[in-house]
Amino acid sequence: MLSRRRALEGAFFSAATAALGGRAMADPLAPRALSMLNLHTGERLKAVYWDAGGYVQDALRGFDKLLRDHRTTEVHPIDPGVFDILNALQVRLGVEPTVQIISGYRSPATNAALHDKSAGVATGSLHMQGKALDIRVPGVKLANLRDAAWALQKGGVGFYPGSDFVHVDVGRVRRW
Ligand SMILES: [Zn+2]
Repeated sequence: MLSRRRALEGAFFSAATAALGGRAMADPLAPRALSMLNLHTGERLKAVYWDAGGYVQDALRGFDKLLRDHRTTEVHPIDPGVFDILNALQVRLGVEPTVQIISGYRSPATNAALHDKSAGVATGSLHMQGKALDIRVPGVKLANLRDAAWALQKGGVGFYPGSDFVHVDVGRVRRW
């Protein structure tokens, strides 16, 4: 387990080096790495989640756990398309950021509780299907993050400047 993790971290730094060299776009088969910090739990993970033409299951499970409903501790699979959005964002923004997670998976109970408190939480939220994340990226202006996400045309983009995050999902292409 430890050596596997070391291998993933080593691959991450290789991928980061490649991206810093501006080659990330040039090689569609280059490993794709992500780094995340869950602001509620303080947990961090960086790992190569896609390599040699396929998703790395260990890494996906690791990110699923990091993105769990921290209120109920329920873990739900996150649609890998969400990770592809984050990867495309880091390529577009030209940085190797640690993406800060405000919200990942939300259980129906948690979503209902949040909906009662905030009009910004939809009753049929894609967070309940593991298809949405609320994020911010240190060093990237929120409006720039929103514009980069919208330019991808890969799903929904919500702008929440009052709470300092952008919502991205793999649902219908739409914005609010
Ligand atoms: Zn959201």
